[in-house]
Amino acid sequence: LAEIDAARAPFATHQWQAAPLLAGKAAPREAVPVTNPALPSETVGAVAFASPADCETALDTARPWQASAAERGAILNKAADLYEANYGEIFALVAREAGKSLPDAVAELREAVDFLRYYAANAPEDAPVGTFTCISPWNFPLAIFTGQVSAALAAGNAVLAKPAEQTGLIACRAVELLHEAGVPRDVLQCLPGAGDVGAALTSDPRVGGVAFTGSTETALKIRRSMADTLAPGAPLIAETGGLNAMIVDSTALPEQAVQAIVESAFQSAGQRCSALRCLYVQRDIAGPFIEMLTGAMEALQPGLPWQLSTDLGPVIDAEAHEGIATYVAKAKSEGRVIKQISVPKTGHFIPPTLLRVSGIEEMDREIFGPVLHFATFEADQLDQVIDTINATGYGLTFGLHTRIDDRVQHVSERIHAGNIYVNRNQIGAIVGSQPFGGEGLSGTGPKAGGPNYLARYSSHPAPL
Ligand code: ADP
Repeated sequence: LAEIDAARAPFATHQWQAAPLLAGKAAPREAVPVTNPALPSETVGAVAFASPADCETALDTARPWQASAAERGAILNKAADLYEANYGEIFALVAREAGKSLPDAVAELREAVDFLRYYAANAPEDAPVGTFTCISPWNFPLAIFTGQVSAALAAGNAVLAKPAEQTGLIACRAVELLHEAGVPRDVLQCLPGAGDVGAALTSDPRVGGVAFTGSTETALKIRRSMADTLAPGAPLIAETGGLNAMIVDSTALPEQAVQAIVESAFQSAGQRCSALRCLYVQRDIAGPFIEMLTGAMEALQPGLPWQLSTDLGPVIDAEAHEGIATYVAKAKSEGRVIKQISVPKTGHFIPPTLLRVSGIEEMDREIFGPVLHFATFEADQLDQVIDTINATGYGLTFGLHTRIDDRVQHVSERIHAGNIYVNRNQIGAIVGSQPFGGEGLSGTGPKAGGPNYLARYSSHPAPL
């Protein structure tokens, strides 16, 4: 930890500057200041967003990667080395631009490096699609960004990367490292900006395919615009939202379940698409279970993301903060708040909150923050609960805590979810062996980090 602190120290007040990284010339544009979500009066740097002219330049100059699979793999591995070598800067940047705690930043760097090395090792020899647009969210500003981009590059595509407007600095820094490792500038271009930049890069016939992670609503917009403008059959690889549930029955080990719940609902301040949103506990054990759960919530350490003791930072920006705070205030006025943990008064912090609901059907949308909904069920209502969860139409993650073997089999078969977690937390995936991805409104598949994934970035996809 002392070493990490020393590596981060030079970047404690650093001001990063970023602008579109294009093969051609970027049109000069005023940069937008980036503020720190934990201390909004502090700027972290500034990003110049891509203009319509920049999108045009990028689309015109994009070239697939003229290199063998082995050469591509070697360069992606070199990029992984550079990411690792620059960990101090990356941790500082992830904390100050995205508000993520050190444990989150460590996990994020590890995942990004795993993606680079896994796709490097599996780079296919055959034909790329052409130009791939990769649109990423702010919640995993390094890991998801790198996962999409490195898969598209491993398959030999030209990549136009469009990071979320909230985290353009991290993305541009990552692209600089990929260029430094040897990815040519006409093969990988980065166009920071908001939804208009994403729209320009997903509605042009020069684009051969799109990888997207973000809201279900935006994914549906992109699908429609691709249908109108891109070649028929152009792939859309989409990872979208979830309304994730967990069931704890009366045979579960309570300590294990409570720890899993706290991690699943509150890590990254609940800003993970995999996060647990609605917990169902069997009614016979609900009383003592709530006591244990609220006790465990008290041990959470919300705080400033660059302090080593912090395990939970702020939410990403003022808009997210307002939306979640309004939702929680309404629940409070209805007397449904079971527990809240206090948080720093600066910045966009939301107190980790436990709320009572009758069931997941009361939630009409995903609340992307540290808010966990608590419901109970009777022993004979298990199938009914699963059907209610399925009826949301989402199907990303699902957790089950039980010591009844047959039940694991039964529930796994009945639930619609891309990733099912038994007697553990329901976040995280292992690149290569346990790929991640959803069903229904939660995504198109195939799963990121899995064997079918790279094939979707090639023009001869293997049968799924
Ligand atoms: P979130 O709720 O995570 O912000 P969004 O779907 O709004 O989810 O954003 C995810 C990514 O999609 C971001 O990079 C955002 O700028 C981009 N985006 C938003 N609107 C569009 C659009 N119409 N076309 C393409 N990309 C878009």
